[in-house]
Amino acid sequence: MLDDYKLEQPIVYKVLTNSLKINKYSHAYLFELNGYNKGLDFALAFAKILLCPNHYSNNLKCKDCNQCHNIDKNNYIELKIIDSSGQWIKKEQLEELQRDFSTKSILGNKKVYIINNAEKLNSSASNSLLKFLEEPPEGIYAILVTNNMYQLLNTIISRCQVLSFKKNIICNDDSSLKKIAKYISSDEDTYDDFVNINGVKYIDEIVEYILFFEQHDYESIIYKNKDFLQCFDDRKKLALAFELFVLYYKDVLNEILGLKLQYFNDYSDSINKVSEKNSLESISKKIKIIVDLSMNIKYNLNSNLLMDNLIIKLCGV
Ligand SMILES: [Zn+2]
Repeated sequence: MLDDYKLEQPIVYKVLTNSLKINKYSHAYLFELNGYNKGLDFALAFAKILLCPNHYSNNLKCKDCNQCHNIDKNNYIELKIIDSSGQWIKKEQLEELQRDFSTKSILGNKKVYIINNAEKLNSSASNSLLKFLEEPPEGIYAILVTNNMYQLLNTIISRCQVLSFKKNIICNDDSSLKKIAKYISSDEDTYDDFVNINGVKYIDEIVEYILFFEQHDYESIIYKNKDFLQCFDDRKKLALAFELFVLYYKDVLNEILGLKLQYFNDYSDSINKVSEKNSLESISKKIKIIVDLSMNIKYNLNSNLLMDNLIIKLCGV
C-alpha cells in the first residue's frame, strides 16, 4: 500500500496523498525515479488508490471491493501495465492500449495505465502516446515510470505532473548509518526515521563539526555553532548530537589503539585525521566533558550557551 513508501519517499507520498484528500488528480504523472528501485510497485499502489472506490491500496482494509480484489489477482481489465518486451516499447502496444481504453469504464469510473521504463518508448510509440496525452479521455489516468526522464519527448514531459523520487540510500548492515541507528534507537520507528530520513544529515553534521573544531578550536563558536543548532534544533535532537559526539570520539580512541572502528567506519578518513591530533589521554578527557555537559540538556539550559561551553571546555584539554 502507498503508506509503505511514506518513509522512503516522503515528498512524493505527500503530494499524492494530498491530491487524494481533495480528490483532484492529474491526468498524467511522470515518476522520475532517480535510481529508486521500487518505482513500479509504487505506481501500482497509487493506481490502486485511484481505482478502488474506497481509495484503499490495501485489500485487507477493502475486502468487499471488486476492484481491489481483481487488481491483487492481476486480473483487472481497467489497469494496464505496458513495458518493453525487448529493447523498445512499440507503437502497437500503445495502439492496443488505446483500443482497450476506448470504451467507457464498466466497473469503476476510472482506468489507469502504467508505462514502465518509459524511456524505452520508440519514436512512433512516443507520438502515439502524445496524441493520447493531448486529448485525455475522461477518467483515464497515465503513470509513466522512468529512470531517464530526458530520453522522453519534451512534449510528453510537459503534459505530465513530474514527481521526482529520492534515490535509495544504499546501506548494508555494516554501514555507519545502520549501526548508529541501531545504537541510538529505542524502537522501530526511531530506527526507520533515522535510516530513511535524518540519519545521513545528522551524521554528516557531526563529522563536519568535529573536524572543524579539531582544526580551528575556538573559531567553532563563531563559525559553526549557529548552523549546528539549526540542524539539532530541539532538546531531543541535541541529546542525540551529544550521543553521536561520544560515539565519534570513541572511534577515535579505537583508531589510536589500532582497533576496528565500531560506528564511524564509513568515515575513516575523518577519524584518522582527528586521531593524529590527539592522544589517548586527550580523547578520554574530551569524552568525559561531552558526557558531563550532556546532563545539562535535560535541564533546559540555553543551547547556545551549552555549545559555547562545550567548545571552551574542549579547547582546555
Ligand atoms: Zn478497494
